[in-house]
Amino acid sequence: MIRFEAVHKSYGRHEVLKGIDAEVGRGQVVCLIGPSGSGKSTLLRCVNGLETYQAGQITVDGVPVDATAPTIHGLRTRVSMVFQRFNLFPHRSAIENVMEGPIHVLKEKPAEARAHAAALLTRVGLADKMDAAPAALSGGQQQRVAIARALAMRPDAILFDEPTSALDPEMVGEVLQVMRALADEHMTMLVVTHEIQFAREVADAVLFLDGGRIVEQGPADAVLRNPTHERTQDFLRRVT
Ligand code: ATP
Ligand code: MG
Repeated sequence: MIRFEAVHKSYGRHEVLKGIDAEVGRGQVVCLIGPSGSGKSTLLRCVNGLETYQAGQITVDGVPVDATAPTIHGLRTRVSMVFQRFNLFPHRSAIENVMEGPIHVLKEKPAEARAHAAALLTRVGLADKMDAAPAALSGGQQQRVAIARALAMRPDAILFDEPTSALDPEMVGEVLQVMRALADEHMTMLVVTHEIQFAREVADAVLFLDGGRIVEQGPADAVLRNPTHERTQDFLRRVT
C-alpha cells in the first residue's frame, strides 16, 4: 500500500535519499533500521508529505504523494505518524489530546470523538489516565497516548519514528506491547527502530538503510539473522 520507486531527496546540495525502492504491503509491518544520519526519518517524513522529494515516486494505495498538493491533508489522516518525542498538547488531558484530530480534522461530533478516544485509551492500557495531563504521565504512558491519538484518525497505516528511543528502558516494553497488538490486528506499519528483537518478532520485512541507500532488504529473519552485506553485519553487531 506504500510504494517507493527510485525516490531521491536532497536538502540543498546534500543528497539524503539516493534512489529508494521498497514496498509496505497492506497489513504488513516493515521495520527500517540503519545508522544515525542514514535518512530514516527523512524517508518516513516524505511518506506523509512533511518533506518533499525531488525525483522518483512514493505512492499510497496507488496515489502519488505530493506534499505541495491540497490532497496532502487527506493523506495525513490516512497515514498517521508517531514521533520519538510524543508531541502531546501539554495543556490538554490525555483524552482531549486523542479527541483533538477527530473533532477538528474529521469533524466528528464531540460525544462520538470522546467515546472513541476512551475506547482507544482503554486499548492502550490507560483507562485510568484519561483525564491526566501529559506532565503527570510517564514517558511510556505519554507515548501510548500518542499512539491512541494516531489511531483516533482511523488511519490505514501508521509511521513510527523511533517510538521507544526517548523512553527509559523500563518503559520500552509497554509501548512495544501496544505496537505488537496493532501488528496482530494487521495494522499497516512502517517502523524506524533500533529494537532488533522487536523487528525479529514482529516485522514481515526489514529494510537496512545506509547513506541514503537501501543496502539490504528482505524477510526479517534473513536480514537480521543472516545479513549478506558487511555494512548490515557491522550495524547489527553494534546495536545488538
Ligand atoms: P537518526 O538515527 O539520527 O534519527 P536518520 O537516519 O533519521 O538519523 P535523517 O534525520 O533522515 O537521518 O537525516 C539524514 C540526513 O539528512 C542527515 O545528514 C541530516 O543531517 C540531514 N538532514 C535531516 N533533516 C535536515 C534538514 N531539515 N535540513 C538539512 N539537512 C537535514
Ligand atoms: Mg531519525
